Amino acid sequence: MDSRRLLSWYAHHKRDLPWRRTSDPYKIWASEVLLQQTRVQQAIPYYKRFLRRFPTLDALAQADVFDVLKAWEGAGYYSRARNLHRAAGVALKKWGRLPSAYEDWLCLPGVGPYIAAAVSSIAYGEEKAVLDGNVIRVASRLLAEKGDVSEPKTRQKLHAFVQENLPSGRASEYNQALMELGAAVCTPKDPACSRCPLNAECKAFALGVQARFPVKKKKSAVPHFDIACAVVRRKDGRILICQRKAEGLLGGLWEFPGGKLERGESLEQAAAREVLEETGVNVRVGAKIATVKHAYSHFKITLHAFEADFVSGKAKAFGCQDVKWVPLAELARYAFPKANRTVLTELT
Ligand code: SF4
Repeated sequence: MDSRRLLSWYAHHKRDLPWRRTSDPYKIWASEVLLQQTRVQQAIPYYKRFLRRFPTLDALAQADVFDVLKAWEGAGYYSRARNLHRAAGVALKKWGRLPSAYEDWLCLPGVGPYIAAAVSSIAYGEEKAVLDGNVIRVASRLLAEKGDVSEPKTRQKLHAFVQENLPSGRASEYNQALMELGAAVCTPKDPACSRCPLNAECKAFALGVQARFPVKKKKSAVPHFDIACAVVRRKDGRILICQRKAEGLLGGLWEFPGGKLERGESLEQAAAREVLEETGVNVRVGAKIATVKHAYSHFKITLHAFEADFVSGKAKAFGCQDVKWVPLAELARYAFPKANRTVLTELT
């Protein structure tokens, strides 16, 4: 790969992004964790909000995990926020700061080869090549790699290729340049090959078959679930919310009690049953408030939210970690998953 040409292109096309204005490893780390799941433009507001709330490693390590989840609200993949928080504590205890070496980064909770290579190279110049989705696309097209990129051996081959081409002393710019090239030029659809600094050596471009790469095996159909939930109100106007168990999907977040529709049930029956099973409270289900579609990484849901009146029972955490009756005006203080937050906007 003509790495010099790539670096020269990057010097002229580098976008002015908040995390590129800093050499603070903590900020670079937070940005890379966010960028694992979100496009650059969408990540910027989350990045700013998170760093306003937790401007330093110490601030993050000392925070309550639920405040961390609140600051991460809407960004998705909440286990990453929990891991950031845990890793901040581990790093401070072990080194009194964030580590510089790639291998030390790999010891931190939630840190895999991508984050370890990205932060250690960008913040400290470690000569470790990054292989994210953008780099995989660029490398597989340059090589016209026929192997399935979801296979470890294909990824190892692509990683070896980008690692071999890393110019000594330029790891930070090189990694950022490849990621930027994938994001801005070598895009999934209609790559702008005429503007690409590597087009003279790109095998896919030479053959006119860019769209065939990267090769990915066909994904099986994504399952879909109907979820019914209830916004249960007491006479005093307080609303019942449940906290999900700490481990697992959306762990530690708050939500309106609810769950999967079972065969033969109406949505209203499912909402009443789920409230009873999760909290021990009997309710009378009323009108529908909202229908929200949401996609997670491995499945999709349609959330059907209903009004419900409290009838009887003392709320207890049976199928969740905690339960609370909260005034409507205070609900915004709690971290909710995105679909539940959409329901919340219908209440206010
Ligand atoms: S020439 Fe086109 S396909 Fe090849 S790396 Fe550049 S943008 Fe991607």
